[in-house]
Parts: sequence; C-alpha cells; structure tokens
Amino acid sequence: MTDVIIIGAGLAGLNAARKLEQSGHTVQVIEARDRVGGRNLAQVLEDGNVLEMGGQWIGPVQERICALCDELGLERYPVHNTGHVMFYDGKQKKMKTHKEAAPPLNVFELLDLDRVVKKITKMANSIDTKAPWEHPKAKEWDSQTYDSWVERNPFTKKAKRFLRLIGEAIFSTEPTDFSFLHFLFYIKSGKDIETLIAIDRGAQQERVVGGTQLISKKIAAALKKEVEFNSPVTRIEQNENKVTVYAGAKSWTAKKAIIAIPPTLAGRIIYDPPMPPNRDQLTQRVPMGNVIKMQVVYKTPFWREAGWTGQVISFEGPVKVVLDNTPHNVDYGVIVCFIEAGEGRIATEWSPEKREAVVIEGLARYFGAAARNYEAYYEMNWVKEPYSRGCYGGHFSPGVWTAFGKYLRKPVGHIHWAGTETATEWNGYMEGAIRSGHRAADEIIDSL
Ligand SMILES: Cc1cc2nc3c(=O)[nH]c(=O)nc-3n(C[C@H](O)[C@H](O)[C@H](O)COP(=O)(O)OP(=O)(O)OC[C@H]3O[C@@H](n4cnc5c(N)ncnc54)[C@H](O)[C@@H]3O)c2cc1C
Repeated sequence: MTDVIIIGAGLAGLNAARKLEQSGHTVQVIEARDRVGGRNLAQVLEDGNVLEMGGQWIGPVQERICALCDELGLERYPVHNTGHVMFYDGKQKKMKTHKEAAPPLNVFELLDLDRVVKKITKMANSIDTKAPWEHPKAKEWDSQTYDSWVERNPFTKKAKRFLRLIGEAIFSTEPTDFSFLHFLFYIKSGKDIETLIAIDRGAQQERVVGGTQLISKKIAAALKKEVEFNSPVTRIEQNENKVTVYAGAKSWTAKKAIIAIPPTLAGRIIYDPPMPPNRDQLTQRVPMGNVIKMQVVYKTPFWREAGWTGQVISFEGPVKVVLDNTPHNVDYGVIVCFIEAGEGRIATEWSPEKREAVVIEGLARYFGAAARNYEAYYEMNWVKEPYSRGCYGGHFSPGVWTAFGKYLRKPVGHIHWAGTETATEWNGYMEGAIRSGHRAADEIIDSL
C-alpha cells in the first residue's frame, strides 16, 4: 500500500510529496487538471518566453520559495522598477518608486493614512497567525468587515479610498467581503502592509526565469511515481487502517492522505464517514476572490522611455492595478493588469473582445495613444476555472475565523490538510503553499 496519497499537484501538494519522498515514504499525487502548477500557469510565447497567467512575484523575504528555486536550479530576476509610479485619481500624478514613497495625497490625507497604517501594523503584530481566534479582541475584530473598520478609522476620504484599494488588490474581493480579523491575520502572515505591496524589499521584488510553473514541473518530474492527471477526486473513504480516494472509475488506497486544494474545493468532495460538522461548515465559508489577469504585448516598453515604471495605482476602474511584466532579457514590452473584486464580477460577464477593448482604453488613459498600438492580448479568468473557482486565494468572511478557524488544519482521521489557505506564514502566496505542504508532510512523517 502507498504511504500517502496527495490530492492536488499545486505547490502545496508537490512540496508535500517531495518532502515525504525525501524522508523515505511512498507517494501518489492525484491531479484534476492535465497539468501541474494549479494557480501557476505559463503561457508560452512564440519566442519561447512565457507570460505568467497566475502567481508570479516572489521576494527575498519569502525564504522557502527562494531556497527552492536555488535547489531546482531556477534563476530569478528583479522586477523592472525604474522610473515613476503613476497614481491616477482622475488625472495622472507621479509617485516615487522607493519603499518610502507615499501616494500623492495632501498632507492631512498622508498623515491620516500614516497614522492608520501604524495602527493596523500594531494590531496585526499582536496576532498569533497559528490561532488568530485566540486573540483577546478576536471576536470584536471578526464581527466586522474590513470595510466597516476602514469607514470608521481614517478621517479623510482619500485615506479611506486608498485603504479600500489595498484591500481589493490584496484579496481580489470587495472590502465588505472579509473580516477585519482576517485582514489583520493576513497582513501579519506576510510581515506587514508595506512588505505585501512593495516591489523593492517586498513580495513583488523578483520573478522566476521561465515562470513559476517550472517549480512544479521540476518537482513533479523528479517524483518517483508520476502524477496521475485528469483525475478530479470526488469521494474519499477512510477506516481505521486506510484511506481510499476515488476519481471516476479510478481509485487509490494509502495509509494517509493530504488534501492540498482550497477549502471550498475540499468541501465539494464526498467523505465517508462524513467530515465532522464544524469542518464541513468551515469549507462552506471560505470563498475564493475573483480576478481576471490581462497581459498586453507591445513592440517596445514605450512607457519606460517616458519615465514611467509601468506601474499604475488608480482610484478609477475597471483597470486599477497595472505593472510592467516584460520577460527577462527581451526587447519587447509587456504590461500586466488585473480586473478584480466587484469590477471583476461585472467584467466576467463581458465577451473577451469587450474586455480587451476596455483594457486597451484603460491603458491609453494612463500611457496615452501609444497603448492602443499593441501586438497581442492575453487573459485568464480564474473564476471560470472549476479546479480553482477564483483567485488569488480564499478569504474568511466575518465570524469564520472565530467560529471555525481551529478546524482549518486539524487532521480528520488519516486526512491532513495543505494548500496556501492553511498557511500561517504567507497565507495566500506561493510561499504559503510551500510551507503548508511541508507542514502537512511533517505531520504525516511524525504519525507514520
Ligand atoms: C492571477 C494570480 C496571481 C497571483 N499572484 C501571485 C503572486 O504574484 N505571488 C504569489 O506568491 N502568489 C500569487 N498568487 C497565488 C498563488 O498562485 C497561490 O497561492 C499558490 O499557487 C497556491 O498553491 P496551492 O498548491 O495551495 O493551490 P493550487 O495551486 O490551487 O493547487 C491545487 C491543485 O489541486 C487541483 N485540484 C483541485 N481540486 C481537485 C480535486 N478534486 N481532485 C484533484 N485535484 C484537484 C488543482 O487543479 C490544482 O492543481 C496568484 C494567483 C493567481 C491566480
């Protein structure tokens, strides 16, 4: 009998598999799609370079993914960050790129924002990310949304708008959708707000040459047993001695299983015996965010010549977050942008042609008519992916952490849980996925 079956060949599942094999256990990874990588996906261009349609940025603050790239022989390169960032609130405004850069708000708005960010940092630092529900103020913070907290705390409208924009950009959902406790937990799990949103010294400093999906491809290729593709798991049975996993007519039996998929997908599997009620309630309450990631290819990165980094932060949608996404060492230019949260919900109903037109006009608003002269347009709508159901990750609505948080990682019989949504550090990020895989593997190594 195989020692461990792992469901999901994303970074969490594959890193769990790697660690278990390294410690001498036999492993079978089962994957619903016909590929590895999950929320990491490379779109290969004619010249062999890739556009990354899913997770792509990493930072030196994320130790495990950097170490993993080194071990796998994958090179990293710095994200283009020279020039000015554009801030748009109806008109273009310049913003410096270094870490201390502040949005071009007036002095009262800036002081207000600074005061509130410091307050958030202090509160977030007081949370134990392994058990946010145990904080003395957990109930108070978990009974309100991030939006309602933002409505009450900054004095100025612009500081409120800026904080809401940060919320949308980090969680790819509306600030009314997730609890303030979840926001604080997430900020702490990724160090602090500055680190989460920064390029230099932050979570967006570097990219992987060839794209992050290569990490999963390399790990999978080195596993002793090939990943079983096209096998969406629908049913799991367990008894005292074993666990049996079913995907259509296929089944596998092992001593232990790791489910390395987002909670909302884990909740779709039928379990026999059924999951304990509170675990089942939890998986009904961690929805995914929604994001459409768009990339536009240009003959040259013309915005650089005009002194822009290519980064835009805009109060006006639907294209509010824009960055230079040019692959390593090429002379053409690529812009990436996202339509997310409430605007994503509207844009998902549009035709791809309409989205393309809206994106190009959005970019022309920021970079001028040259933005209309593009070579190619690519997009990926993660909400339409049945084995992701949205992105970047799952978020906790009010009341969920305090009522059900303790069931997030608690094994049920022979079943253990991984996936970035279960991470205590860098939750929602690739780093968190890797850490969650390692943690689940450790639990099994200890129990076997
Ligand atoms: C557009 C986008 C941008 C992002 N940007 C960044 C970024 O810049 N930096 C960053 O760090 N993170 C980013 N992320 C998030 C990051 O990609 C994820 O946190 C990470 O990849 C999650 O890995 P995972 O293994 O936990 O889950 P997944 O990658 O979702 O892997 C789960 C796997 O399980 C499979 N599966 C699902 N259901 C079943 C089933 N029933 N049976 C069998 N298999 C199943 C899925 O197909 C998938 O392969 C981004 C994500 C997206 C989509």
